[in-house]
Amino acid sequence: MKDKYDVLVIGAGPAGSIAAKTAAEKGLDVLLIEKRQEIGDPVRCAEGVNKECLKKHVEIDKRWICADLKGSCIFSPDGTKIEMAEEISGGEVGYVLERKVFDRALAEHAATAGAEVRVKTRATGLIIEDDFVKGARLMHLGKEYEVRASIVIGADGVESKVGRWAGIDTALKPVDVETCAQYLIAGADINQEYCEFYIGNEMAPGGYVWVFPKGGGKANVGIGILGSKMGKFKPRPVDYLNDFVQKKFPDARIVEMVFGGVPVSGSIEKTSVNGLMLVGDAARQSDPITGGGILNAMDAGKLAGEAAYEAISAGDVSVVKLEEVYEKKWRDTVGHDIDMSLIVKNCFINLTDDDLDSLAHSLKDVKFERMSLLDLLQALFKANKKLLWDLRVLF
Ligand code: FAD
Repeated sequence: MKDKYDVLVIGAGPAGSIAAKTAAEKGLDVLLIEKRQEIGDPVRCAEGVNKECLKKHVEIDKRWICADLKGSCIFSPDGTKIEMAEEISGGEVGYVLERKVFDRALAEHAATAGAEVRVKTRATGLIIEDDFVKGARLMHLGKEYEVRASIVIGADGVESKVGRWAGIDTALKPVDVETCAQYLIAGADINQEYCEFYIGNEMAPGGYVWVFPKGGGKANVGIGILGSKMGKFKPRPVDYLNDFVQKKFPDARIVEMVFGGVPVSGSIEKTSVNGLMLVGDAARQSDPITGGGILNAMDAGKLAGEAAYEAISAGDVSVVKLEEVYEKKWRDTVGHDIDMSLIVKNCFINLTDDDLDSLAHSLKDVKFERMSLLDLLQALFKANKKLLWDLRVLF
């Protein structure tokens, strides 16, 4: 088996597969490894993405689209409904994907571009020599072996070990992580045209409940609770979720369960060292308000694939070079949006249910179809300066 590559990508989620595809398209010799035997399974995601942003990366394929939505509705604690067209519903609305099919398709695209893909292959450590990452130790069917590469890309998701092995601080404090529980439900009366979000401190402390239709009468119904607010009213996220499902969809049958964490920390200080870059959830690049991370992972994956090419072509894979060709670029794009979202998150998590209701009431006469998300926040700010004073830095 070959043991030397230009690029080794660890983890075949959206970040890793796009990074591998991009680097392979540039002519680099790429190995993409995935610890699971089936890429994309089990799913730990509500599977919502913004249509236009997704189209920048892949040609839409009906095999992995479950639902094509018109927009989203947010319900405040007293039940006030705010309906928004798709364009301003944020990065998590538009399509609901079938990630089991989607993630595998992305890995297939990487393979078609020339990357070698090895499943059931887990990275167990990094090879570090003279302060440079030079490859990784891999485990496949009980056998450990080494693979060397000019650049390693750590795309190993929220539980990333690659970052830690490289000496990058990726630790998440309770306030930096949403703990999630989700059911795929069937047999319930579900609005199949809109995503629904339910906010409120008693319903989902520091987070929200989502209902994302998946077609065929099914939906992902889930909840994210901020780690620092865990146990405030009920012991676990799944207890809040059970209450919601029983009230809203009493006839629902649960056909799948998902548990997982989402980083909502905002940008971390460092995502590259000599010979290594981190991407996607491993680099904590998901959105601090929504927890959505698929598109950010794909954006950063593409930048990392391009950066690998630039650095290897220049014969310089030092951290200084990687900061120039990767770190700076993702911070100016994805990172900028994340930092804005963090400001909004930090402001919203301190609001009471009465505050949230009064924000919802103030939006009643606003015309949403012509607004961007920033316009929406601005409208909220104008009507509720005292409540949202911390958002002033955004406008
Ligand atoms: P992942 O998709 O997690 O991929 C990492 C891959 O690395 C995995 O396949 C894993 O098996 C593999 N791996 C890990 N360690 C190793 C190793 N040592 N060796 C080899 N392989 C390894 N985002 C959205 O945009 N929209 C949503 O609606 C949404 N809903 C969510 C709901 C829930 C309940 C959760 C938990 C998350 C949700 N997210 C959502 C977030 C989204 O799932 C992630 O942001 C996204 O998957 C990040 O992609 P990634 O490629 O960085 O990581």
